[in-house]
Amino acid sequence: MFERALETLDAAALRAHQWSRVQALARALVGANPFWTAKWREAGLRAAGDLSGWDDFARLPLTSKGELVEDQTTNGLFGTNLTYPLERYVRVHQTSGTTGAPLRWLDTQESWDWWARCWGFVLAGAGVRRDDRAFFPFSFGLFVGFWAGFEGARALGALAIPGGGQDSPTRLAAMETLGATVLVCTPSYALHLLQVARERGVDPAALPVRITVHAGEPGAGIPSVRARIEAGWGARAFDHAGMTEMGAYGYECEAQAGLHVNESEFVAEVIDPATGAAAEEGELVLTNLGRLGSPLIRYRTGDRVRRASAPCACGRTFARLEGGILGRLDDMLIVRGVNVFPTAIEAVVRRFPVEEFQIEVFRDGELDEVRVHVEVDGGDDGARRVQEALRATLGIRLEVAPVAPGSLPRFELKARRVVRR
Ligand SMILES: [Zn+2]
Repeated sequence: MFERALETLDAAALRAHQWSRVQALARALVGANPFWTAKWREAGLRAAGDLSGWDDFARLPLTSKGELVEDQTTNGLFGTNLTYPLERYVRVHQTSGTTGAPLRWLDTQESWDWWARCWGFVLAGAGVRRDDRAFFPFSFGLFVGFWAGFEGARALGALAIPGGGQDSPTRLAAMETLGATVLVCTPSYALHLLQVARERGVDPAALPVRITVHAGEPGAGIPSVRARIEAGWGARAFDHAGMTEMGAYGYECEAQAGLHVNESEFVAEVIDPATGAAAEEGELVLTNLGRLGSPLIRYRTGDRVRRASAPCACGRTFARLEGGILGRLDDMLIVRGVNVFPTAIEAVVRRFPVEEFQIEVFRDGELDEVRVHVEVDGGDDGARRVQEALRATLGIRLEVAPVAPGSLPRFELKARRVVRR
């Protein structure tokens, strides 16, 4: 187990551990990091010593992605969230920019080690061991995603196998030759590889893969998606949550009862997104404690979550988010007065033999309307069965249109299945 001692701290010890990290963070930032120094000064905090307890912490201003984008738009390539001179930083990554301008993020050597450490919790939570061989079918570009996972596998002592610059058949062959026991990729890509394997007469369940770890999309937390990945690969599939600007903060344990937040490296809060007041269900707000070069404090993730109250069967005391990430607040659709997350549509669609799908959103006057395109067996009849299941589950009638197999886009990285017209 990775850092089992930290994962099972009692509430008071965990709070004390976090507080010493928060204080170290404040000491590093005030006066050195222009972004946080200015933001906190406005809120009345002038020295690290002004932060005397959790009540003060709760008064620190929330931070939104919009502020970070604005900072990088007006204050140069990397903005002002820099604690050290530029030469201290050794890596740059950027967000995919699916919801606007991409954010660029720098890491120092220390914060890159921190990324690897956080991913160690993710992989160990899924049961990855030193004798595992982890395959990363990932293009190793500017997106941080699996770069950090790769470092995490190495930090854990497993064998990390790069799968960049290869097409899917070559990747399958590499997995077979090198005896990969762990597959780390997006849920969509795990499903796509299954399809490619079947087309080539390879039975993926006969490969030694025993664990799959997913990121980049909510899919692995959706029971119907997980079931298809597990059945196809003959493996157990685990979800994880992270963000380029924040780090890898959430992971599943063997109990698979939602996502644990790594509270030894992050402070997690849940707020009512409208009022900012603490809530059991609402928006996840995070602070990272080990990325001192470009940290985020009380950052609004835009993820809707529900905090579990019962302890987890695995024995970890870290906070647990029931059902994982329930949806992106900015992805929520309002269809005839009903709040619908695209993940809820996916959960239903994936119960059927659907190879790929797309959610088309268009405006009908002031209202969102949704058309779901599905590559499904049985054409119109297949589409009608999906429609009936959507109606039974979501309580609304959505148009479902069958499309020819292979006609919708495939994804290696973050799938973009919601299309706005
Ligand atoms: Zn657990």
